[in-house]
Amino acid sequence: MTFDSKEEVQYVLNMHHIKKGLYYRMGKLSPTLIVARCVNDECDWRYRATIIIRSQKWEVRKLSDEHSCSSPVISQDHVNLGSVYISKSILALVERDPSISIPIIIAHIKSAERYTISYRKAWMAKQKPIEDLHGNWEQSYHDLPKLLNAMTIFLNGFFVEKQTRPLYNQQGEMVHDYVQFHRVFWTFKPCIDGFKYCKPIIQVFLVQETINPRERRSTGNFTVRLYDKLCDCMKFQKLHMPCSHVVAPCKHLHHNYKSYINQVYTLEYVSNVYNELFGEWPNESYWPDCEEPQIIPNSKYIRNKKGRPKSS
Ligand SMILES: [Zn+2]
Ligand SMILES: [Zn+2]
Repeated sequence: MTFDSKEEVQYVLNMHHIKKGLYYRMGKLSPTLIVARCVNDECDWRYRATIIIRSQKWEVRKLSDEHSCSSPVISQDHVNLGSVYISKSILALVERDPSISIPIIIAHIKSAERYTISYRKAWMAKQKPIEDLHGNWEQSYHDLPKLLNAMTIFLNGFFVEKQTRPLYNQQGEMVHDYVQFHRVFWTFKPCIDGFKYCKPIIQVFLVQETINPRERRSTGNFTVRLYDKLCDCMKFQKLHMPCSHVVAPCKHLHHNYKSYINQVYTLEYVSNVYNELFGEWPNESYWPDCEEPQIIPNSKYIRNKKGRPKSS
């Protein structure tokens, strides 16, 4: 029996034990040798695989056919059901939906292997296919200058502002050709053009008092000037929308009060936000190389790999 890699040897070993509900323990593990034995000391099961230098293939040298021990009590989880094994099993699922939830991964392993793995194990196992598909944390920062450079070249009106900080080594000397990421802001031309059509949330206007000081003003009386779009209560001029004092005379005059609603509140106006089209975006192989210094992430912000992972 030969295998192409050490990982393949371990995978087959794990698969066999998970299916049978038996446990093994790794003995010696080196770049050229794998030794395993049963967790039960009274059991004779032994395993030994080694690399053949000439063919660079792994060969099983010693294998007792079956365990002489009986399978241990069925437990919820299996010790040999590790994150590498799970990663392989869920690769296609994560590829289809990278935001797949951890409970779905747990359910998948339950139906495929009959074991209920822990939340942490499932979470850890999901990280590997995600990294294989989308690159890891450091790689993303490394790729950033080239991506932003390409967007600047290919997308008309693209705006980016990138802030980095000098990088120092442990001796306090500045490292050349590398900078540390601080923050980045970017936006696309259609977003800039569409922004002016967004519905204003806060409107502040300078309002001038228009009341004749000789007139006594009681709380119940409000002067409305429809033509100037003014009302004593100030809502009309501030919100650019008729207040109740405007609606009342409109009704009296058989006048449509809706004509006093500013156009920024209309759907036609707001839909202008989506008027502009985004530019075409060529495949990564067409992006030019970027000469800028390489960006290193700030390790302070890396997700904590220890402790219980939070639900995603
Ligand atoms: Zn055994
Ligand atoms: Zn009013």
